[in-house]
Amino acid sequence: MPELPEMQALAERLDTAVSSRTLTRADLLGFSSLKTVAPGPGELVGSTVASIGRRGKYLVVALQGGRRILIHLSQGGRLDLEVPPKVTKPRGALVRLVLGDLALLVREHGTQRKAGWWVLEAGDDGPLATLGPEPDEADFETRILSGDSTRHLHTVLRDQHFVAGVGRGYADDSLNRAKLSPFASLRGLAAEQRGVLVDAVRSVMAEALERERRREGGLSEPRLGERFLVHNRAGQPCLQCAETLRVVQFDSHEVVYCPRCQTKGRVLADRRLSRLLR
Ligand SMILES: [Zn+2]
Repeated sequence: MPELPEMQALAERLDTAVSSRTLTRADLLGFSSLKTVAPGPGELVGSTVASIGRRGKYLVVALQGGRRILIHLSQGGRLDLEVPPKVTKPRGALVRLVLGDLALLVREHGTQRKAGWWVLEAGDDGPLATLGPEPDEADFETRILSGDSTRHLHTVLRDQHFVAGVGRGYADDSLNRAKLSPFASLRGLAAEQRGVLVDAVRSVMAEALERERRREGGLSEPRLGERFLVHNRAGQPCLQCAETLRVVQFDSHEVVYCPRCQTKGRVLADRRLSRLLR
């Protein structure tokens, strides 16, 4: 899933390509993908794009007059730039926003059907209203330094209400850099460890954004490739100490960590395996 760095770099590319263009068509191609009822897509035609930005993992298309279009790619979503715009309906297509001689096509591969888009009236924040601070904001630091949650750190970092834009990939990478167990809690951290965690999240995000800014065009999971340092790399050596990275599988995701750097040498039980053995 694209996280903050991929979405931020995409927003910057699209802002350059699309700002000040006028929406000539808004084709709803997958009906359940539109999460709002009014205003409808047809009402957007004739609106001019003021800017394209990002909040959390949402792409935010701001229109002149105050309306906004939000796009969330979720697990399997992708965004293609079409030059010139097509009229076909590709498999998994959700929406095609046509802006003169180019179009943004959002589609989804696989069967997850979780990617979506929203059309918001001026002043309506929709799903943005409940997002936590961005990692580079002071409120994120305050939450880490003073938080006493007993939830797993990996869960806290992935919680979009706690901090916006971090997903399972950069949560793994940040915790490895901070040398903290994904299953530790904020409550159990010393003040120094909290500071290290803030710095780790911020530096992992900043480095990833720098890499992403070299990309061109749209965004799709297959094109993202091996962008993580730890995530998806179980069985490979830890970049900090060369120990073999381990994985804990959950139903919906997996957590990758280095036993030497993060868990005092302990190899944590794989939950799926433990259940079979029980
Ligand atoms: Zn290590």
